[in-house]
Amino acid sequence: MLRIAVQKSGRLQEKSLTLLNECGLGIDTGKSELKALARNFPAEILFLRDDDIPQYVEDGVADLGILGENVVLEKKKQLTIIEKLGFAKCRLSIAVPKGVDYTSVQWLEGKKIATSYSRIVQDFLTKHGVNAEIHEISGSVEIAPGIGLADAICDIVSTGGTLLSNGLKEVEAVIKSEAVLVANNNLSADKQALIDKLMFRIKAVNKAGTNKYILLNAPNDRLEQIINVLPGMKSPTIMPLAMEGWSSIHSVLAEEDFWDIIHQLKANGAQGILVIPIEKMIL
Ligand code: ATP
Ligand code: ZN
Repeated sequence: MLRIAVQKSGRLQEKSLTLLNECGLGIDTGKSELKALARNFPAEILFLRDDDIPQYVEDGVADLGILGENVVLEKKKQLTIIEKLGFAKCRLSIAVPKGVDYTSVQWLEGKKIATSYSRIVQDFLTKHGVNAEIHEISGSVEIAPGIGLADAICDIVSTGGTLLSNGLKEVEAVIKSEAVLVANNNLSADKQALIDKLMFRIKAVNKAGTNKYILLNAPNDRLEQIINVLPGMKSPTIMPLAMEGWSSIHSVLAEEDFWDIIHQLKANGAQGILVIPIEKMIL
């Protein structure tokens, strides 16, 4: 039985459970209990505060955990990041009051920085040879400069809206973060086998999410150019259409290349292009 720690409430919970369910675990969501048993996989879900997950995984109370990389880096526990999950993307940035004439990290020398991420900030300052005072606070970090508590802050930013409304500007990106899957460092062979099985499924789900299935029609005399534009898993599938001289081409495209390739396909004479989401993708 695998024990998987997931955030009890907050930004990560829903996507963590959705991912596990897309991997076929069958967890009843929306429960307020501290534990839930998966129906279709030997796993138990533990609902915990995200800040506590690294400790539980290090201790082996949980075998796996899903949480933000920012928390993993801050807690510095003995555990291993085994997969990046692609959601809850954000960055940890230093911000200063809008009016400050900030030119380089040297500006921070001798200043006071308010943050909930003191270890990450200290590592950043050490790397840049800057001495500053770190003031650890657990929430509402962005109001610290306004109330005279600090000269700068280091906090999570996704769009920058919160900074702006507090009269701050982002000046340094310290780390990038996204949700990750972490594992205990001393797992039994039985548990490792279950994790391998789960990892296979997570990769299939995440791969599918970043790819699209594409179907299109093309005149046979343009097939070669069109095939050259398509990456495909191995090579595209080509089938003759009922209409003489035309074929249907099926392939898979990475989301990030998508629009570029669509334009090239159109330019090469493709017609009737259909793009379909992929549910699972096993390579
Ligand atoms: P608590 O510990 O009280 O549950 P929290 O602030 O740690 O609160 P959330 O706000 O739910 O919890 O954030 C959880 C994680 O989601 C963060 O550690 C970070 O990795 C990510 N995250 C936070 N804010 C954002 C954001 N604005 N955009 C994207 N990801 C974010
Ligand atoms: Zn937290």
